Amino acid sequence: MTAIVVFCTSSLHISKSIQQAPTMNVSTQEAADVLVVGGGIHGCSSAFHLARQGVKVILLEADYCGRHASGVNAGGVRTLGRPIPEIPLALASRAIWHELDELVGDDAGFEASGQLKVAESEADMQELRARVQALQSLGFSHEVLVDRETVRELVPTMSAHVVGGIWVKDDGHALPFRAVTAFRRAAERLGVAVHEGTPAEGMERVGGLWRVTTKKGVFEAKHLVNAAGAWSARIAAQLGEKVPVQPGGLMLMVTQRVPPFIKPVLGATSRPLSFKQFDNGTVVIGGALHCAIDFDAQHGEIDFSTLARSARTVTDLFPFLKDVQINRAWSGIEGFLPDKLPVIGPSKAAPDVTHVFGFCASGFQLGPASGRTVAELVVNGRTDVPIDAFAVNRFH
Ligand SMILES: Cc1cc2nc3c(=O)[nH]c(=O)nc-3n(C[C@H](O)[C@H](O)[C@H](O)COP(=O)(O)OP(=O)(O)OC[C@H]3O[C@@H](n4cnc5c(N)ncnc54)[C@H](O)[C@@H]3O)c2cc1C
Repeated sequence: MTAIVVFCTSSLHISKSIQQAPTMNVSTQEAADVLVVGGGIHGCSSAFHLARQGVKVILLEADYCGRHASGVNAGGVRTLGRPIPEIPLALASRAIWHELDELVGDDAGFEASGQLKVAESEADMQELRARVQALQSLGFSHEVLVDRETVRELVPTMSAHVVGGIWVKDDGHALPFRAVTAFRRAAERLGVAVHEGTPAEGMERVGGLWRVTTKKGVFEAKHLVNAAGAWSARIAAQLGEKVPVQPGGLMLMVTQRVPPFIKPVLGATSRPLSFKQFDNGTVVIGGALHCAIDFDAQHGEIDFSTLARSARTVTDLFPFLKDVQINRAWSGIEGFLPDKLPVIGPSKAAPDVTHVFGFCASGFQLGPASGRTVAELVVNGRTDVPIDAFAVNRFH
């Protein structure tokens, strides 16, 4: 039998709530202030930021931390091209990426290489011009319009047909699995108990607490964080909340090593592309390359015709890569919402539940700040980051 652990710091909203919860004598395997379901970047970051505020946290991961999208993504740390409502969170996250080593004891391979979105025609350039003007009218100056010559200075090997682009110098890339592990280890050092191979199954509210059953026992907490990625709708449904998050597959491929030829991460305007060269010479190619999935088998089907189209975009921009071989292709499963924005914030159907999921192919960059936002919401009941656009009930 384990007693419910109450963390006593008077300024903590969560601790006050727990103190008010009825004292229970339950045959719980483990109890905490907060149970985080899901060990991707958002679950691990939430657990870390909560623990930093002195909250006792248990994290349940069905498989192993970083097994899904967070561990297999392209590692793009991109504020460039974000939907407007995501920009404040993305900029907050980028500031954390630049100081990650100090925060979690590892820089996760983050490199501030910059990100460049190229215009391949005058029509592309018009679109990018309009984007930068729109951002400036809203007070955002992080995306900068650059001309043909500046593109050449940034990427001397770029094909001559490129007429300009948008440049964000403080963006970059990092190593996905290492980033998840950095947050997870830092969380553990602060006392977070991480249970891998422990899918959260039944969820019920008993005496003002959440009781989650798993094959390994029962876990209990005052507050629940739903960070189950593409599987979050299943958790939400158990809590009585319907969310239109759809699982989808995304693919990446990596080439053999080639001599260094590009520093920034590259995107295109009118065709899907995300492209970067690592220090070891390999080039990772992706950018919204969707594929079919078998959701229950947790498996994405590699679609070689889509990959071939993407490889063509790359050789159009860098013709000298046409004989380079692809070494490997892989896929990951991600949660998508109809308006391409995530869900971040309190449940509207169940008390003491915070959702953080549905990052629509670009949630790796947001992980560091989304976890901090979740911790603020759980502990203080509020956050300074604007999150109204991410409300779970916006589709009703
Ligand atoms: C191929 C690919 C490339 C991408 N490239 C980029 C990029 O360059 N930049 C970028 O910013 N984003 C990118 N993304 C998106 C990014 O990876 C995701 O948005 C982000 O990782 C989502 O993190 P998460 O923590 O919400 O989900 P996940 O990483 O999926 O984690 C959720 C976890 O919950 C666990 N879980 C599910 N159900 C349960 C349960 N019942 N009990 C316990 N645990 C459970 C799962 O096992 C999983 O580990 C890419 C995604 C893919 C797939």
